[in-house]
Amino acid sequence: MVHRPWSIVHGPSSKQIYHLCNTMHYYSTNNRNHHATLKEAVIRGQAPDKGLYMPERIITLPDTFYQNLKGLSFEEVAFKVGWAMFRDDMELGDLKNIIDNSLHFPMPLVQVEEGIYSLELFHGPTLAFKDVGARFMARLLGHFLKNEDNEVTVLVATSGDTGSAVAHGFLGVPGIKVVILYPSGKVSPLQEKQLTTLGQNITALEVEGSFDDCQALVKQAFADTELNARINLTSANSINIARLIPQSFYYHYAWSQVPKGEDDKVVICVPSGNFGNLTAGLMAKRMGLPVHRFVAATNANDVVPQYLRTGQFTPRASVSTLSNAMDVGNPSNFARMMDLYGNNQEALAKDVVSCAIADDETSATIQEVLQRTGYLLDPHGAVGYLALKRYLKTETATGIFLGTAHPAKFIEVVEAATGQPVEVPEALESLRHKEKLAHKIAPHLEELKRYLA
Ligand SMILES: *Cc1c(COP(=O)(O)O)cnc(C)c1O
Repeated sequence: MVHRPWSIVHGPSSKQIYHLCNTMHYYSTNNRNHHATLKEAVIRGQAPDKGLYMPERIITLPDTFYQNLKGLSFEEVAFKVGWAMFRDDMELGDLKNIIDNSLHFPMPLVQVEEGIYSLELFHGPTLAFKDVGARFMARLLGHFLKNEDNEVTVLVATSGDTGSAVAHGFLGVPGIKVVILYPSGKVSPLQEKQLTTLGQNITALEVEGSFDDCQALVKQAFADTELNARINLTSANSINIARLIPQSFYYHYAWSQVPKGEDDKVVICVPSGNFGNLTAGLMAKRMGLPVHRFVAATNANDVVPQYLRTGQFTPRASVSTLSNAMDVGNPSNFARMMDLYGNNQEALAKDVVSCAIADDETSATIQEVLQRTGYLLDPHGAVGYLALKRYLKTETATGIFLGTAHPAKFIEVVEAATGQPVEVPEALESLRHKEKLAHKIAPHLEELKRYLA
C-alpha cells in the first residue's frame, strides 16, 4: 500500500475502528487481494499495480426498491442509490450535500418517436454527460481532502469533454490544481475554448499528438517515482471509480421515468469510447436494475464490438471521426467489464450487444431524424440512436439512448449534416470572445514534468 502524506490514516478513534470493520473495500482489477477504502481509491484514481478499482461487493437491491423509484426526482433517485452504495463510507448529510451541489441540473427522458427515448445528459455547465461524473468526483475528492494540508494536482487527459467537465467541477476549489492534456487540433473549436479559458487553478496543455498520446503521458506520469515523490498526483479520467458510480444513478432514473406499460423490456444504448459509461450501466444492472440489455454503440473505433464478435481484444491506434469524444483505440474500462463478467466473453455478450456506426451514417442520421421527428441529435447521440434503431429491428422493446452531448457542442458537424443553423446556448456563445490560454508541448514525459514542476 502506498502511503502518501496527505492520505493519512490517523490513530483510529473508536468510531473509526467501527468504520474500518464495516467499510466497503475496493480491489484492483489486477489483484483482488489489493484493498483500498473509498477514500484511498478516489484519491489514487488508479491502483498502485496499474489496475482499476472495483467495489468488492455490488449491493443487490430488491424489486420493491425499484418499484419505489417511479415518480421520484433525479436527486431522490441518486440519493437512494448512492446511499445503498456509500452508507458505510460517509455520513448521510455529506452524501446529500455532494449530490445536491454537483448534480442539480435537469436530465430529462425525452421521447424522440414511438418506443424511442433520449436521456438528455447534456444540460450541465459544459453541455455533456461528463459533467455528472466529473462534478460528483470533484465534490467527493474535496470532501475527502477537506482536512489535508498539501496541494493535490489532478491530471486529466481528454478527447474533449472530460477535460472541460473536470475543470468546471474543480474550478476555484482550494488546495486542488487541475492540469488538462488535450490533443492539438483534435477537439472542436468550442471544446477547446471550454478547456482553455477558465484560468484560476486550471492549466491547459495542448499536446502535439493524439488522445492516446495524452492518455499515455498521464499513465507515464503516474508511474514516475521521482515525480510522485515531489507532488501529489491524482487522476480524474474515467478510470476514477468516483466518476463511474454517479453515472449508475441516471440509469436508475432513466428506467424510473419510462411510462408504465412500456417498461416490461427496456434496452439502453450507450455511445461509447472509453466504456466508463457502459460499465456504470452494467453495474446498475448487477445491482438489480431491470434493464433487459445494453447496446454498446461505437464509431469506427470498434475494438469492443470486435471483441464481442470474435473474443479477441485487439487495441489499436484510434482514428478520427465525427463523434470525436469516442475516438478511443484502447478503451480503459475494458478491464472493468472483463472483471465484472469474469473474463467471459459469452456472459458479457448476453448483456451487451454492439454495433459500430460509420461517419456517413452518423451525418445521415442527424439529418433524417431531424426531418422526420424534429429532434436534433449531436454526432454521439446519432451513433447511439442508429445503433439502437438497428437493435430494435431484431427485438421488440422500449429503447433509450443516452444523449451524451448538446448538438451545439459539435455545431460544425451538425450544421453540415442538416444544412440548418444550430441555436447556441448562452453558456457556449459567451466563450467565443474569451482568449485561449494553453501551453503547447510535445508528447514526452519530460515536457509534461517541466510544467508540473
Ligand atoms: C466521453 C464521451 C462519450 C464516451 O463515453 P465513455 O464513458 O468514454 O465510453 C460519448 N459521448 C460523449 C459526448 C462523450 O463526451
